[in-house]
Amino acid sequence: MLKAYVFRLYPDNNQKQMINQTIGNSRFIYNYFLNDKITEYKKFKKSKTAYDQIKCIPSLIENYPWLKQSDSCALRNSIFNLDDAYKSFYNGKGYPKFKNKDKYNSYKTNNMKSIYKGKQYESIKLDLINKIIILPKLKEVKIRGYRKLNKINGIIKSAVIRKEAKKYYVSVLIEEELIKPIFNPKNIVGLDLGIKDLVITSNHEKIENKVKSYNKRLKGLQKALSRAKVGSNNRYKIKLKIQRIYQKIKNARKHLIHNITNKIIKENDIIITENLDIKNMYQNHNIAKSLTNTPLGHLIRILKYKSEWQNKKLIQVDRYYPSSQICSKCGYKNEKVKDLTIRKWECPRCNTKHDRDYNASENILFEGIKLYMEQLQV
Ligand SMILES: [Zn+2]
Repeated sequence: MLKAYVFRLYPDNNQKQMINQTIGNSRFIYNYFLNDKITEYKKFKKSKTAYDQIKCIPSLIENYPWLKQSDSCALRNSIFNLDDAYKSFYNGKGYPKFKNKDKYNSYKTNNMKSIYKGKQYESIKLDLINKIIILPKLKEVKIRGYRKLNKINGIIKSAVIRKEAKKYYVSVLIEEELIKPIFNPKNIVGLDLGIKDLVITSNHEKIENKVKSYNKRLKGLQKALSRAKVGSNNRYKIKLKIQRIYQKIKNARKHLIHNITNKIIKENDIIITENLDIKNMYQNHNIAKSLTNTPLGHLIRILKYKSEWQNKKLIQVDRYYPSSQICSKCGYKNEKVKDLTIRKWECPRCNTKHDRDYNASENILFEGIKLYMEQLQV
């Protein structure tokens, strides 16, 4: 996981001059090679790659000796910046532009590792206790920020030094390791996801999709809207009211989904759901109407990221697994249950009486456990 930490930088006068110079030199390199690319392309219909340009830097330094004073990493990164600008141009963005002082106010340097007399050195070092960062060419610079942190665990990848309104900042990119405790599952749940009841669990819980719909009020407002004069103040007010209601419904839905997912993640270690084809469900006309109010895709996405963060496991069973038709007691497959209107049925083989949704969630649970065990054996 990459994370950026931004500190205010307090360079002394010499360091300020050095930073300004390096930013200026990086901008020079950017503009120089942009010009180079344009002229080469005009002449030969092709131009140098970023790597060819990097190879040109030493000869460029001979002609412009002041380039030597700056961090060489910064010059190379400036070429990569230009390369990125070309890449976004090929993806439909505007053609790269020459940069003036306002548009180019930073430079990037990478943390270079080297070994000298058996000791490892890094070009960027962060000392949060003494509030110091060591940067190439600048050496120790005072910093401020993250008062409560003594140390950041992780590997420093790079730093961007930026000058903004006469103030200096450094953004340090750090690769942090996400340390997960050993996974030791105790509680497992199967979830059948639905329309009226959003979630039906294998523990025989039903969680209703009970968000107030304001249907009556919306209908009334729509009617009033159609009668209101176009461009009138009244029409504007009605529109605003409608927008507010939709906002209310949206918020309530968000709230409901967060509550449901928090509860499920808190109570269980392995969560098993169907891998629903939401798009396909929309195409099924009967379901489509009620599904527009059902945020199932959203619910699955949230379950996914929450389980990842909290060291839980989300398993999704194949969407074609007939969870509703199989008897969770004896395994008999009852094709008649395909009919969605059948809410309760009795197994012709073992005579168990089933609630359609509870039975489905139990089957999803079994199927998920099977998948989990298969994963363990690999
Ligand atoms: Zn049965």
